Amino acid sequence: MILEIKNLVKRYGDMLAVDNLSLELREGQILGLLGPNGAGKTTTINCILGLISFDGGEIKIFGKRLNENEMEIKRNIGVVPQDVALYGEMTAYENVDFFARLYGLKGRELKSYIEETLNFVGLWEKRKEKVKKFSGGMKRRLNIACGIVHRPKFIIMDEPTVGIDPQSRNHILESIKKLNKDGATIIYTSHYMEEVDMLCDYISIMDKGRIIAKGTSEELKSLISTDTTLIIEISSISHTVIESIKQVNGVIDCFIDEGRLKIISKKSANNLSKIIDCLLSNDVQIISLTSEKPTLEGVFLTLTGRSLRD
Ligand code: ATP
Repeated sequence: MILEIKNLVKRYGDMLAVDNLSLELREGQILGLLGPNGAGKTTTINCILGLISFDGGEIKIFGKRLNENEMEIKRNIGVVPQDVALYGEMTAYENVDFFARLYGLKGRELKSYIEETLNFVGLWEKRKEKVKKFSGGMKRRLNIACGIVHRPKFIIMDEPTVGIDPQSRNHILESIKKLNKDGATIIYTSHYMEEVDMLCDYISIMDKGRIIAKGTSEELKSLISTDTTLIIEISSISHTVIESIKQVNGVIDCFIDEGRLKIISKKSANNLSKIIDCLLSNDVQIISLTSEKPTLEGVFLTLTGRSLRD
């Protein structure tokens, strides 16, 4: 087990920021910690890293408490903090070099790790430029480079894609997948459900300091997906055809919504071909057909009654 948190409690004065939180992370996993602003994600990470004290519970990394073998454990952890921590007056190379030395890298290893890492985040060509001239996306990428240059086994990324352009975001997401493929175990916090959905094998949804649901993306979505919805763009349709679709096995409802035909069926009704047959045999022209899939946003909304981005 890479990380085990049992009943973690953290208060800031009267405010309960982390409320009895437990989670486990196995080697090779990417765990997504998804929650709105203020859910307690950064506080949890700061507790894991030993940056702040906590009021209850236990955290083990690589099977040990942080204070048991702090240096050895920290050398195997990479942190990509939410707030970009770079030196603007230094070049990209000097920034990565600075962090690499903090982790004890020296000599030939130091040079080759820096080169490899700057290539990995796509900034080798920019290595001699001062960071203050970098775009937000480049800074985010360099921030990642500084956190992973020492090739840690366990990487913690706290919202590494906040406020950047889609191209840099894709670059970062692809890099994270690659790091995982190369053997790193990763915790990834975000309030962007699409990212977590795409990246993570296991997701814990956090709200008000607590884990309110956990599982794979599919497991979480199945919490709310009782029905499936088909949306069909059609030329025109008569009331009689709508009534005959309602007779198809598994169909719960069928109606026109914003000019498109919506058909709600029971979960696993498996009636798509029957619905299409019914439309075609009644000379209804199908322009496009999509199905509305449940999302993690939907899961959060169902569980809390609020949107993730409030
Ligand atoms: P964000 O995405 O905005 O960083 P988060 O899920 O990481 O959100 P935290 O930053 O852990 O959430 O904050 C959890 C709660 O603790 C919030 O209500 C926040 O205001 C509060 N909090 C965080 N740090 C402190 C602090 N140093 N002193 C007092 N309250 C704090």
